[in-house]
Amino acid sequence: MQQFILGLTGGIGSGKSAASQWFESQGIVVVDADIVAREIVAKGQTALSAIEKHFGPWVLNAEGELDRRALREHIFKHPEARKALEEITHPAIRHSIIEQLQAAQSPYVILVSPLLFETNQHQLTQRTLLIDASEQLQIQRASQRDLQNIEQIKQIIAAQMSRQQKQQRADDIVLNDGLLSHLHMQLEPLHQSYLQLVQ
Ligand code: ADP
Repeated sequence: MQQFILGLTGGIGSGKSAASQWFESQGIVVVDADIVAREIVAKGQTALSAIEKHFGPWVLNAEGELDRRALREHIFKHPEARKALEEITHPAIRHSIIEQLQAAQSPYVILVSPLLFETNQHQLTQRTLLIDASEQLQIQRASQRDLQNIEQIKQIIAAQMSRQQKQQRADDIVLNDGLLSHLHMQLEPLHQSYLQLVQ
């Protein structure tokens, strides 16, 4: 049977990682798009050489690694540069995600991504699960976790697809507005239903 891939998404601080960790505790392999995005620009990777070729040697620090801050500032000053960067990184991310999903030994596999719908990564999945939370809770959790200021978190939320749009697009929705144990209790029957689907 074709591999069953569940796309797991949610805004910043919604509880995607908390949900992923629970699925992992049940023996499910999780591929994290954020981790893949960092892996493909690691030292020695083709995408990093392509970025250097396009933008110039200043994108690398003394250790030959990507100077994220310099690149971020460049994109802030030259918004059109984002497109060029994404044209290099997005295909590399997609390729690596597909490779990791295919290699996974698991009853079903999860692709977790904050931008699942925004970057069309949901097309790689058979079903999608939204971890949903109010903006107030998102801000509270993300600011406690990252010690980021509230304005930065609000900017990230504003750049992501709206909560309502994600609710409309997701197949399954879990509202993460209580204790972690409440989140786990809601994930359990979904996990069982996914196991049924792959049988
Ligand atoms: P995301 O991956 O969606 O950005 P996380 O799963 O990292 O969000 O959750 C953000 C922070 O909030 C983390 O520190 C996490 O442990 C905490 N958290 C998530 N869900 C709950 C919950 N139901 N109760 C208490 N803390 C939570």
